Amino acid sequence: MDRGEMIVPKEEMERQARFAREVRLLPHRPQSYHVVTYGCQMNAHDSEKIAGMLEEMGMVPSARREDADFVIFNTCCVRENAERRALGNVTWLKEVRKQKPDMVIAVCGCMIQEPGMAEIILRQYRFVDLAFGTSNMHKLPEMLYETLNSGKQNVNVEDRDVIAEDLPVRRLRQDAAYVTIMYGCDNFCSYCIVPYVRGRERSREPDTILREVENLAASGVKEIMLLGQNVNSYGKGLPGNPSFAELLKRLDGTGIPRIRFMTSHPKDLSDDLIGVMAQGKNILPQFHLPVQSGNNEILKKMNRHYTREQYLDRVEKLRAAIPGIGLSTDIIVSFPGETEAQFEDTMNLVNEVRYDSAFTFVYSPRTGTKAAAMKELIPEEVSSERIGRLIALQESLQKETLKRFIGQEEEILVEGMSKRSNLAVSGKGRHAVSVTVEGDEQDIGQILKCRITGLKNNTLIGERI
Ligand code: SAM
Ligand code: SF4
Repeated sequence: MDRGEMIVPKEEMERQARFAREVRLLPHRPQSYHVVTYGCQMNAHDSEKIAGMLEEMGMVPSARREDADFVIFNTCCVRENAERRALGNVTWLKEVRKQKPDMVIAVCGCMIQEPGMAEIILRQYRFVDLAFGTSNMHKLPEMLYETLNSGKQNVNVEDRDVIAEDLPVRRLRQDAAYVTIMYGCDNFCSYCIVPYVRGRERSREPDTILREVENLAASGVKEIMLLGQNVNSYGKGLPGNPSFAELLKRLDGTGIPRIRFMTSHPKDLSDDLIGVMAQGKNILPQFHLPVQSGNNEILKKMNRHYTREQYLDRVEKLRAAIPGIGLSTDIIVSFPGETEAQFEDTMNLVNEVRYDSAFTFVYSPRTGTKAAAMKELIPEEVSSERIGRLIALQESLQKETLKRFIGQEEEILVEGMSKRSNLAVSGKGRHAVSVTVEGDEQDIGQILKCRITGLKNNTLIGERI
């Protein structure tokens, strides 16, 4: 698609802003909203935009979904259980609405973009008032206006790959912000549904991203998380093909105190990027590098385009350039045909790398992906035994890796009061590890310097300096 066609025109965004004002004037419009979010940071950020649009329509947030006039489920379909959970919760709300007949229910996000799902909503979930996919989220004001006026079920799915700039955002945190730098994915890992529901890879203009980050810095935001399914391939299709390393270097110059990013695909992790990180001022020493499997044959069947050896080489380069860097990963257990020996290769890799944290998943077949057609599904009892072993290994290694922080200084951005004590606060250190330190509510949103004195349940304990 031509880049000009991809970016939603200003006139269309203004038209949507007019619909938002029209909804605000409707006498029977919902007064309050609640957004339920499933899945990744991308979805969390989409929910912030949905909340921003709903507030433009005059609604105020409601803490509990059962009290809200408008409830919207922003769904995920990466694994079957995420999908099942979302549909179960949507059905539960049908019962709540019997006591609150004016409640408006909407379902949006990746799951709606799945082939066949729109028909399922139309036929089996007739009580859902509005459903829409990821590519027409910016049209929420118009869609809601139509729904409220017609009283009919409104299901909208488009397959266009768009970039919608300047949507209002209601951030979950005042001190930290998500910044999407690219949408979609072109990698087609054989197990993954994301390229089918989020569309082709498309990057935002570097100048637009830079302006957004400068504005965030000026408004007092202390940390940004740059988002993309594969941030390392940022820039494809943009004039001059700017790289992610170049973008990161420019953003480092804005003076925003802390910069994180995710996710990185090992095949595209360049030496340039490692160099920019090593010389950066405010780029945090932390890297999320999903490995998925430690076995070359499985990696090939997953269509990951790197070998175990190449992955380990990237890890070594990162550690040499940024000593003490915090590493985390994603791992899939029981990909079709995975033998015990192949699983052992993953265990050995985890043992070798020693991550600060790992997200572990049992393979979940997704209709339409290449792996869904692969035979040799691993029996459930084998999968749960394997994932149990992997989690136990990671937990025991983590206790050791985190000890390297004891005696060191860390800077934490305080997220909230500690769950265990009302005399302590907690937040993430520069290496993305949680730290608890003495403090009170006034510290929330502040960067605190502390010295790490101990470790309890994979949380570091600090002392203020
Ligand atoms: N783009 C990112 C990447 O490549 O790492 C993350 C995409 S996905 C939302 C997050 C993680 O979910 C993946 O890294 C993978 O480990 C896991 N995942 C994706 N599809 C899966 C499936 N079908 N079954 C189990 N886990 C899956
Ligand atoms: Fe899915 Fe692979 Fe794209 Fe990540 S890189 S979103 S795992 S297809």
